[in-house]
Order: sequence, then structure tokens, then C-alpha cells
Amino acid sequence: MNRLKIKVFVFLSLLMLIVASAVTFYTIMHEQSFYAQRMAEVRENVARNYRESIEQTVRFHTSRAYANLSSPGVIEAIAAKDRNRLYDLIIKRWGVMREENSALFVMQFHNADGTSLLRMHQKEVHSDHIALSRQMVRDTHKRRSVIYGFEEGRAGLGFRLFVPIMDGENYLGALEFGLHSDHLLNIIRAHTGYDAFFWLQEKYVGYLDTARRAIQIGDMIALDPPDEYLSVIEHYRVKHQSVEETTVRFNDQTLTFSLLPIKNHADKAIGSVMFIYPSDDLAYFVRQMLLASFLITLTLIVLLWFSIHYFYDVIARRIQFEESYNQTLLDSIPSPVITTDSTRVIAANRSFLDFFGFKTLDDFLEEHPCVCDYFEEGDTDEYLLPIKENRNWTQYILDYPKRMHKAKITRNGETSIFDVKLSTLLGRGLKRYVVVFNDISTMQTRALTDTTTGIANRLHFTMMISHLHTLSLRAQKPFSIVMFDIDHFKRINDTHGHLIGDRILHALASLVKSHIRASDLFARWGGEEFVLLLSDTELDHAVQIAQMLRLAIEGAVFEEEITMSCSFGVAQLAAEEAPSALLERADILLYEAKARGRNRVVYEPKSNEIQT
Ligand code: GH3
Ligand code: MG
Ligand code: MG
Repeated sequence: MNRLKIKVFVFLSLLMLIVASAVTFYTIMHEQSFYAQRMAEVRENVARNYRESIEQTVRFHTSRAYANLSSPGVIEAIAAKDRNRLYDLIIKRWGVMREENSALFVMQFHNADGTSLLRMHQKEVHSDHIALSRQMVRDTHKRRSVIYGFEEGRAGLGFRLFVPIMDGENYLGALEFGLHSDHLLNIIRAHTGYDAFFWLQEKYVGYLDTARRAIQIGDMIALDPPDEYLSVIEHYRVKHQSVEETTVRFNDQTLTFSLLPIKNHADKAIGSVMFIYPSDDLAYFVRQMLLASFLITLTLIVLLWFSIHYFYDVIARRIQFEESYNQTLLDSIPSPVITTDSTRVIAANRSFLDFFGFKTLDDFLEEHPCVCDYFEEGDTDEYLLPIKENRNWTQYILDYPKRMHKAKITRNGETSIFDVKLSTLLGRGLKRYVVVFNDISTMQTRALTDTTTGIANRLHFTMMISHLHTLSLRAQKPFSIVMFDIDHFKRINDTHGHLIGDRILHALASLVKSHIRASDLFARWGGEEFVLLLSDTELDHAVQIAQMLRLAIEGAVFEEEITMSCSFGVAQLAAEEAPSALLERADILLYEAKARGRNRVVYEPKSNEIQT
């Protein structure tokens, strides 16, 4: 029982674990793809804003450059390299532009020969051969088109834009704008709400930038990271060998670092812009999810254990009750009853075990597993055998349902005859039979025996008389009857009570039985009247027997003080006489005896009587 309980528990727990794992796994997978999708959207948004901010900056300053160059007199002043005049023509505009954008820190006119014509931001420095030290200037003069990009110079990382200055077909040089790189970050911050800063390859870091915060990972140096992120960047630095995209958990917050390249005018990456934005921590979610599902499963398993424990007890009690109910029911049946699979007894009632003289079914099974091993051959073919007509005994009964099936079994020297009834139990592919053994030998005895006296009753007598009648006719043997009745029995009943009367009837029967042959049929005819059937006996002999009985009764003392007598009628079977006629004659003779004064034997012819 307990092992079954544990088996059920283990099975259901495993099932629960599998379901819980499947649900957890599914949820995590789902969250993972959802997370990846969300992160891709954020990244896409950041990248678009970054691109936009550069394009917007380029568009805006290109148009400003053309506005300046198209002002009256500007091209002429540049062509004439008239620095002072150019300065006067531009200064107001330069003022306005700086007002507009504080990140704008360079406005420089370059001559086509590579020298500097005029720095609006630093008028006193000019005519230096700037193209020698700056690749971007050389490339502009070579390509003579609008070029832009990040440039790391003496003044640090900046965003530079060059617009060619043409006088008709004639290339005069270029106008350069320079913006602090932070300008772009500000635009991105404004658009996305996310913080960002630059990582620059070490070899491009100018002397100004070295003064900026120098957090270094590999060959990358962080430029002015926002103060509030210093500690998280430090945390990031400890964990990473190179600058890469990642998600870190820091101070109960999950932050994602994503990177986009910063390129110079020749489309070459010189560093990255790193965006920092809060995000969902997938690993954290997974950990929490696993913990939650573990705790829930554990709780469910504990609950399961208690439920199984509880319901098992209920069921066990119920089964126990049913079993004891069934056994009691079986045991209360007076006839032997078994359940069998036809070769082995599976269950048996008390009466069955009592009949065979065993305490338990196991004791029975040790001797013979099948009840059929006890079956004996009988005088008719109604008797069952283990195998009959090539079928086993249960199949035989099933094949002949209308026939009477008997089992003859001898136990402790006593032979019993059973009427065998079989019912089939069907269930779960097993064939079981319930077999009831009705002991017809004892039933027959009971039906034919008089309970008060223990001798044959009238039914038995009438059955036997016709049988013996046939036999004696066939054997041509004589056949006599003695009928007798207690004299004044009513008085005995009246004086001593009915119970004593019964006991006297029994004692009288015993007395008579002790004086006759075992083969003589002695029966109670009714009330206090008896009949004796004497086969192979002539009338004379029968009269002698009656006389002998009369004297024995007369001389006996019943219940220590009671004496009594009987009156007898004796008759011999006449030729072709029916048993009923013989009985009637004996009865009449008995009444004759009564009439003549009782305690006498009267026989035919009626004048014959014996007394004393
Ligand atoms: P008689 O000599 O004429 O036969 O007189 P009797 O009293 O024996 O006959 P009667 O037919 O008047 O009465 C028979 C009595 O036998 C009446 C009844 O109470 C008694 N009797 C019949 N059967 C039983 C029995 O089974 N037990 C007892 N105790 N008495 C019985
Ligand atoms: Mg009587
Ligand atoms: Mg009578």
C-alpha cells in the first residue's frame, strides 16, 4: 500500500516537474524573443537618431556655408585673399551663428594652395600651411566637394565640415566649420532621452583629450563619460577586455551599452559612440523565473504529498471496509463459496475452509491449488471432474448451463454431494468465476428427516415405500407394514407438558430403532403415530416384531416416571396391491386395536389380535 502511494507520488511529481519545466522553458523562450525584439527596436531607434543628427548637422552647416559665400563681396574678397575685408563681411554672421550654437567653435577659410586664409575664431593666426598637418584639408583640395567627418586634432575630437569655394569654374579653396563632438551627443540625447559618450582609439587622441577623463579599455579611451555613469563604466571596465556591447546589472538597475561607429571624413572608424539605456535584464528575469517556478513546484509537490497521503487513507479505509464487507458477506453464506480462475482458488469463504478443515486459504492452497483436485467420479454423469470432455470443469459448466452439475467430495471419511453453481466475473481481461457448492447430501437428509424424533419423515417414507414396493415385486419377496400409535398421549402432554411429550416421542423412536434391523425403514407417520416397513418379511414375522415392540414399550419407563403403551396394526402386501391401499389397511387395523381397548396388536383377519 505504502509502496503504491510512493509510486503514485513519484509519478505525479515527475509529471508536475515536466509541466513546470515546460511552462518555465516556454515563458523564458517567449521572453527572450520578446526581449530581443525590444532591444532591436531600441537599437534601431538610437542608430536612426545618430544618423539623423549627423545628416541634419551637415545639411544645416552646408546651407550656412553657401549663405555666407553668396553674400555680396565675399567671393571677391577670397579671390583677392583680402583677409580684413573678408573678416568684416563675415563677422556679423559668425556672431549670430555662435549665438545659435555654442558647439560651433571653428570657421576657417582655406586657400587652394593649402594655407589658411582666415580663422574667424582666431583672426590673428593665418597664412600657416595647414594642409601639411591635416589630411582632411588635403583631401578637400583634392576632391573639391563637400566632405565631413569626425576629426581628432590639437583641439580634441570634433566634427568637421568642408564646403568648396568656387568662383565660376575656378576653385578658390574651402570653408570649414568645426563643432565640438558633444554637439552630436546633445542632439541624440534630446531625441532619444538616452545618454551617450565617445570612445576614441588611443592613437587618435589629441593632447586636449588626454586631459579629459582617461578611462581606458584596451586601446580605447572614454571621452568625458557622464559623471553619473562613472562608477558603472568602471564596473563595466573591470568585466570587459575590450569595448563591446553588453548588458550589466548595477545597483539594482540593468543597463545596456550599445555601440555605433564614429567615422572620419574618409569613412574610417576611429572610435565609437556608446549609448547607455536602461533595459530589462534577461538573465535576472530568467533567474527570478526559475526561482519562482522552483518554489511553486516545490509547494505543489508538498501539497501533492499531503493530498495523496490524505486521499490514500480515505481510499484505504474504504477498500478495507469493502474487503471486510465482502468477506463477511461470503462468510455468512452457509454453503462453501469460492472465487477461482478455474485452476486455483483465489478467495474462499469460511464455510469452504471449514468443510476442508483448513484455517486459512494458504493452508488449503498448500495441499491443492484447485478445488477440482478433490472431485470424485459418481454414479451418474452429472458429476464434475477436473477435465471432462476435453474441457476444464468451469468450461464444462459454462458449456452446459441447463444441466445439473454435481461434485462429489470425500473429506475425513465422509462423502458429500454438492450441487455446483458457477457465475462468471468479468473485469480487466481476467476471467474469474464465483462457484457456490450447495451440499445436497445434508439438504436431502434434512428434508427427509423428522426433527423431533430423528427418524424418517412421512415424505421419506412415501418415497421409499414405492421404491421398495417395486424392488419386492421384482424379487417376488414378501413385504409387511406395522403401524402404531401411542395410547392416550394427549394425557401425557396435558400432565407433563408438550416439551416432555416431544422428548418422549424421541425416546420412543430410539427405543423402537434399537429393536429393529438397520435395513428396516422406520418413520413417523404424523403426531404420535409411527410406521415400520419390513421388507422380505411375512405377516407372521411382522406380527412377532410388533408384539416384541409393544412389550418393550409397555415395559419402558420414560422420563424416569412415565409409562405408556401403543396400539398396533400389522398388514402384509397382497398381490397387486398398491402401497397406499396397504397403508390404509394397516391404519384401519390400528384403529381396530384402539377400539378393542388399546395396547394390543391387531392383524388380518381382523379377529386376530395379540395382547399379553
Ligand atoms: P388415543 O389413545 O386415542 O390415541 O389417544 P391420544 O390422546 O393419544 O390421541 P389423540 O388423537 O386424542 O391425541 C393425540 C395427541 O398427541 C394430541 C397431541 O397433543 C399429541 N401430539 C401429536 N403430535 C405431537 C408432538 O409432536 N409432540 C407432542 N408433545 N405431542 C404431540
Ligand atoms: Mg394416540
Ligand atoms: Mg393418534
